[in-house]
Amino acid sequence: MIKAVKGTRDILPPSSAVWNHVERIARDVFRAFNYREIRTPILEETALFARGVGEETDIVSKEMYTFEDRDGSSLTLRPEATASVMRAWIEHRLDQIPGLQKLYYIGPMFRRERPQKGRYRQFFQIGAEAIGSESPMVDAEVIQMVVEILNRAGLTGFKLLINSVGHPPCRAAFAAELRERLKEVAPSMCGDCQRRAETNPLRVLDCKVPEDQPIIEELPKISEYLDGPCREHFTVVKTMLDAVGVPYTINERMVRGLDYYTRTTFEFTHGDLGAQSAVLGGGRYDGLSESLDGPKAPGIGFAIGEDRLILALQAEGVKAEEKLDAYIAPLGAGMNPQALKLARELRRAGVKADMGDESFRLKKSFEAAEKAGARYIVIVGENEVASDTLAVKELATGTQEQVPRAELSRHLRR
Ligand code: AMP
Repeated sequence: MIKAVKGTRDILPPSSAVWNHVERIARDVFRAFNYREIRTPILEETALFARGVGEETDIVSKEMYTFEDRDGSSLTLRPEATASVMRAWIEHRLDQIPGLQKLYYIGPMFRRERPQKGRYRQFFQIGAEAIGSESPMVDAEVIQMVVEILNRAGLTGFKLLINSVGHPPCRAAFAAELRERLKEVAPSMCGDCQRRAETNPLRVLDCKVPEDQPIIEELPKISEYLDGPCREHFTVVKTMLDAVGVPYTINERMVRGLDYYTRTTFEFTHGDLGAQSAVLGGGRYDGLSESLDGPKAPGIGFAIGEDRLILALQAEGVKAEEKLDAYIAPLGAGMNPQALKLARELRRAGVKADMGDESFRLKKSFEAAEKAGARYIVIVGENEVASDTLAVKELATGTQEQVPRAELSRHLRR
């Protein structure tokens, strides 16, 4: 038997209804905040992620699905979408359009991680990017938008963590200090940390090896290296979040595992997710465009891990599948055309309707309606058609009524 590839999943009903629910809400919220959709390819040149996300990140050094195409070029299944959005922004000269570009995307990403609950090799992200402004107001608005999506989706038990990782001058000072301190302690850390201590000391802070954690705890914090403008930026973000009543916790250790972040970084966690507790992550990336040879393009964005958001919603008991409104039961083959016409009429009026299975026995029809989870069964017999009044039975209560055809859709959607 051929099975789905390790780390990939089929999303089946009824769970797919929760996915649709979440995506519908996200699109509504994006619309309300004036974000527009961008769809970028799933395949990109490998260099995009190597340069955008960073050679020394876990994603690029260990987790990408990279292969050689028939013409010898190196291609990669996108592990995230911010680099792709920025590539598209540069390629299509979106900097020529005045004002802030507010873009969102929904789609699959690929990382070759060790699969476990909440961690897959193909997973989905719902993300947004606001490109073209350095203002901390945009940071606060983006975070507010995330909260709006989570609230409207019905999630309650989440927590917002924020930090500032400064801009390149602060990070350079911090990296120099880290490099110095790591000279003493790195030899007793894992192989990755030993290498990163030289190549990209900030990435040592992403290390997940338990034995290294006490050493990392003792390392300096980025917050001590923020200069005046970065401190001021962070203060405004916090003040704005306070103003709109978004609660947050400052986590000075949060550097996030991608090289492009500058200044504000944030994460939302959820208590029911176990080890993979981050529902989403995001932050500012003021130098990303330049690192891809683009013009100056300060931006901020986030990516919700849709798989994890769904797990969290399910853990909180959120269900999204709507019941079937009506099961239409024709009484005999001669009534099939009438039943089909009635079904079309009701469906056009927004009723969720299913049709009988040609057994034409009332008892079987009731059983089928019951199995389909219908709220009502509508019986289509000769008398009903002749009088334009249908027999409608509510399955939960057993109440039967004669309903005029003109009022039927309203009756069924009650
Ligand atoms: P990142 O792009 O690494 O900042 O991740 C953003 C969000 O995507 C995380 O907070 C997770 O919710 C989700 N995510 C990242 N990697 C995976 C994965 N392998 N499986 C499922 N969700 C993931």
